[in-house]
Amino acid sequence: MSYSKSIIDDIFGGIRPAARALDKAATTIQGWYDAGTIPQKHWPDVMEAAKSFNHHLTPDDFFPSQAPSPSSFGYAFDKMHCLSIDDFHRPDIETLLSLGEYYLDLNVQKSPDRSVLKGKTLINVFFENSTRTEKSFELAGKRLGADVISMQIASSSVKKGETLLDTAATLNAMNPDILTVRHGSSGAPALLAQKVSCSVINAGDGIHEHPTQALLDALTLRQAFARDGGDGQIDGLRIAICGDILHSRVARSNVKLLNMLGAEVRLIGPPTLLPIDADRWGVDIFHDMKTGLKGCDVIMMLRLQLERMNGAFVPSKREYFHFHGLDRTKLGYAKDGALVMHPGPMNRGVEISSDIADDPEISLITQQVETGVAMRMGILHALSDVQDKAP
Ligand code: ASP
Repeated sequence: MSYSKSIIDDIFGGIRPAARALDKAATTIQGWYDAGTIPQKHWPDVMEAAKSFNHHLTPDDFFPSQAPSPSSFGYAFDKMHCLSIDDFHRPDIETLLSLGEYYLDLNVQKSPDRSVLKGKTLINVFFENSTRTEKSFELAGKRLGADVISMQIASSSVKKGETLLDTAATLNAMNPDILTVRHGSSGAPALLAQKVSCSVINAGDGIHEHPTQALLDALTLRQAFARDGGDGQIDGLRIAICGDILHSRVARSNVKLLNMLGAEVRLIGPPTLLPIDADRWGVDIFHDMKTGLKGCDVIMMLRLQLERMNGAFVPSKREYFHFHGLDRTKLGYAKDGALVMHPGPMNRGVEISSDIADDPEISLITQQVETGVAMRMGILHALSDVQDKAP
């Protein structure tokens, strides 16, 4: 039995009595019950309320003796790879986010259980540069006890197609359990997945998708909106994704995931940086920040991806910042208290001003990096579990 169920049932006597004792909505307690975990920020309140029921809880009581398995969240996660948000249904996403949340709590409190990936090998194969994503997978794998190696393969030496398949054969011969792959060509991780016998995680492919970024962004949002007694729901939030959407795999994965989670998604950018098929993405499209940001709860800024542009998509960086960069004036068009995200790396003064990026009251950018490690631990854990269960 999960620890949240035993706290809610055995100490408080069920969901409704727990909701009354904690002065929270029954749906919030139901969420903890279903997830199997209680978010860390609520532990002090739960410990305090448990005292009136003659129970003295300590932070250790908020950890199950063993890491949860993806099926302990009430649904059997059965995906072998993490290639695109399209491959997942809502229950898969809920399972992954719950595991990410579990590791977020665990990372803060005590060292994680290194047996989850013990004896397994994780290889990071990055054909494109990365700081955050690669290090985050490396740390996530090590925290779970895997043997981790990272290979940087200069894209200049890669000829698409044949070389990628050669690389697949070489990697397969090393018998990894999980490969994380970043590649400049859309679809490359999916092609590799067909040629190797292990799990493959897409760590960003061309302008196609970056599913683990979207998952970590969703987890960051849930955490941020659960602060100060919020319900942590993404459902109903108005979220603007702004800037260079044309070249952004982050935008594509986020649009899919945020739509699935019930957000109202807007894209804001100059016509030259919006894909021609964006009107079929299930979003509202705006070209100016003033109308686009109206009533937005969250503003997700994107990097101007100059390395993917051959030709001039914007007149100048200065002009781009003037019309599309996020500064205090444009932030003022959004809802009061709107939160700002950016997947990094940032072009300060091009798509976002430093005073916004560095303001802890409004910027979630550092939290995105922290959450990224926990979310990737959750993804690695889920895939490894599927492998262990395979006949
Ligand atoms: N780090 C993200 C990516 O790999 C965003 C960016 O590079 O701008 O797509």
